[in-house]
Amino acid sequence: MRYADIIVDITLEKLDRTFQYAIPEELTGEVRPGVQVTIPFGAGGRTLSGFVLTISEQPKIAPEKIKPIICVNHERYAVQGQLVSLAAWMAEHFGSTMNQALKTVLPAGKKGNIKKRKIVSLSIPVEEAEEKLRELSTKKRHSVAKERLLEALVDESEIPWEVITGKLNINSSIIRGLEKDAIAEVREERTFRNPLGDLSAPGKVIELNESQKSCVDRVLSDMAKGENNTYLLYGVTGSGKTEVYMELIRETLSAGKEAIVLIPEIALTYQTVMRFYRHFGDQVSILNSRMSEGERTDQIDRARKGDCKIMIGPRSALFTPFQNLGLIIIDEEHENSYKSEQAPKYHARDVAIERARLAECPVILGSATPSVESYRRAERGEYVMLRMPNRVADRSLPECEIVDLRSELKSGNRSILSMRLQELMEDRLAKQEQTMLFLNRRGMMGSVSCRACGKSLKCPHCDVSLSLHRDGKLHCHYCGHVERKPDTCPHCGSEYIGGFKVGTEMVEDMVKARFPEARVLRMDADTTKGKEGHKDILEAFANKEADILVGTQMIVKGHDFPNVTLVGALAADLSLNASDYRGPERTFQLLTQAAGRAGRGEKAGSVVIQTYQPEHYSILAARDQDYSEFYEEEILYRQMMHYPPEGHMLQVLLTSPSLKHLTEKADEVAGFIRAQDLHLRILGPEDDRIAKLQDVYRKTVYLKDSDYDRLVDAKNRIGDYIRATSGFNDVYVWFDFDPQ
Ligand code: ADP
Ligand code: ZN
Ligand code: ZN
Repeated sequence: MRYADIIVDITLEKLDRTFQYAIPEELTGEVRPGVQVTIPFGAGGRTLSGFVLTISEQPKIAPEKIKPIICVNHERYAVQGQLVSLAAWMAEHFGSTMNQALKTVLPAGKKGNIKKRKIVSLSIPVEEAEEKLRELSTKKRHSVAKERLLEALVDESEIPWEVITGKLNINSSIIRGLEKDAIAEVREERTFRNPLGDLSAPGKVIELNESQKSCVDRVLSDMAKGENNTYLLYGVTGSGKTEVYMELIRETLSAGKEAIVLIPEIALTYQTVMRFYRHFGDQVSILNSRMSEGERTDQIDRARKGDCKIMIGPRSALFTPFQNLGLIIIDEEHENSYKSEQAPKYHARDVAIERARLAECPVILGSATPSVESYRRAERGEYVMLRMPNRVADRSLPECEIVDLRSELKSGNRSILSMRLQELMEDRLAKQEQTMLFLNRRGMMGSVSCRACGKSLKCPHCDVSLSLHRDGKLHCHYCGHVERKPDTCPHCGSEYIGGFKVGTEMVEDMVKARFPEARVLRMDADTTKGKEGHKDILEAFANKEADILVGTQMIVKGHDFPNVTLVGALAADLSLNASDYRGPERTFQLLTQAAGRAGRGEKAGSVVIQTYQPEHYSILAARDQDYSEFYEEEILYRQMMHYPPEGHMLQVLLTSPSLKHLTEKADEVAGFIRAQDLHLRILGPEDDRIAKLQDVYRKTVYLKDSDYDRLVDAKNRIGDYIRATSGFNDVYVWFDFDPQ
């Protein structure tokens, strides 16, 4: 006999509360996770409907006391069923409780919390309002605020309430005053008719070129055959991937279905969204992390009701409850923001593929620099590869050159700007063209490298950079190797070793000092804190209000500035020194993307890559803008070291405010899993990369194996062990598969 764990009310607080029912013989084929069923509940012959979460062979109570499922409910709640089933898959595949997974997948939907938006508009014709304005200003005791508001309404015709009381600094009594005089009216809107601002003229449909057409045709003809594949759309920057997405979306909508488009949060700019909006108007909706809960609920409700057909957003948009999902697109699929940092620590790519399987639709993964994982899968034939090797209209890729920072140091140039870069910047200033300078600091916290020879200090066992901990020693957070920090470089003997301390603010100062006449803008986490922070800076730069934009990697993501003809990567190898195995991949991706920013308009572009490691394959491949050159080397490294995708890793992170309990329990978990004799490689426990965070200590055990499912099995055993053992009250355990 088989049994199903069933959840009766998925809106309940206690999502983990399931009830076990027997699966009658005749229903065995139909009862699967996510299916909705009718069950007898309590005494008195009452029936309820519930969702199947899991299926097992083990009765939890005496088998004769377990009641059977009455029937499977077809059709109803199709989407909810899919989402519950998706949650079950995520909990299993990425290691979380069902509760955590359901909370991730099911939209919050706090009904009481829906924010109404008040809009103020003129209730008289504009000419009349102008007349009133003149009248007002001639009055003896005139109200300046009232005039300002009326003036603003003449210009804008309608303005959100909070803009008036906020940005315009006008008291609400003034608004009510105009309302009383029947000059203005206030209305409340539940849903935003259009969260994107005013609609501009519809965009003209671009005629696709041959390589775009052949990509679209391949997907459509597969769909016509009933094949729903995952496609890797590998197209260089500017090859026209977005137009391919649009065409496929258009086809999806005309088949009466809906589409989800994932875009990394950072690239979710006004510019990008407007492109979709111009084509599809009100059918487009967006989600982003800056929205309030109420705003998100609005958008999700619109989707559920079919009021919008295209949802654009970061990874959480995957859970949009479309009834008839027909297409999922993940743009910039290599971005690591697609991996969730909270349990379940899922990767949007894998979840998209699972959701598409449930919804029976294709997935398009687009990138100019595919993740090594996806490229490998495409190579193996798990994904269908679609290539677009050329830029639209045969615009050339920019000229790239490498500058060796070691020789700059030798020749006495201690500036962060090499002589070559300064020369090109001067040239661009003279020509009134724009320059972007970026400093790629991501993930290099604590790494130590030599400024004379460029080498970083690496773990002898894992070939990743060691990181400097507070104890003054160098640690490998994969295997626990510890060594003393040397005083001189072990490779060349130089004394110039240490962390790299330059920040974007310093770069800005240096640039201003060197080019006093230039107008410089800076974009980093500090300057983009406000709600519109990104947009303001990018818009100013796009409007040529600055000559030079200095920033972190956020400036190279997906923005299109036709007047930028020079891009400088100031310290290209910083991300190489990250203390994890993805350093070379990230470096290649960032540099290629950065290069893709140069010369997007009519004028050709140049790129200067400054580095201490000019011979590193990811730097050389980025200069050549040659993905396969990079990939061929990288996959060898992954194979040799058994890193993903050529092997898998499960990080078991234990956290506790008590170091004593943590140490005990981490040893216990590692001991337990070793004793299971699963033939996995087990490393640790070791202090996590971040050994202590907000007074909570963190230790890590790594499990490695070539087979993902064996790691899932190990995860389940650890989960069972924790549930069955006492002492885990103040020790939390988190799982992370193939950590980023
Ligand atoms: P990607 O997403 O691959 O970087 P985009 O889709 O942004 O490329 O296209 C780059 C530029 O080329 C855009 O300005 C786009 O409008 C234009 N473009 C794309 N396809 C075509 C085409 N078939 N004909 C003319 N222009 C195109
Ligand atoms: Zn050295
Ligand atoms: Zn190591």
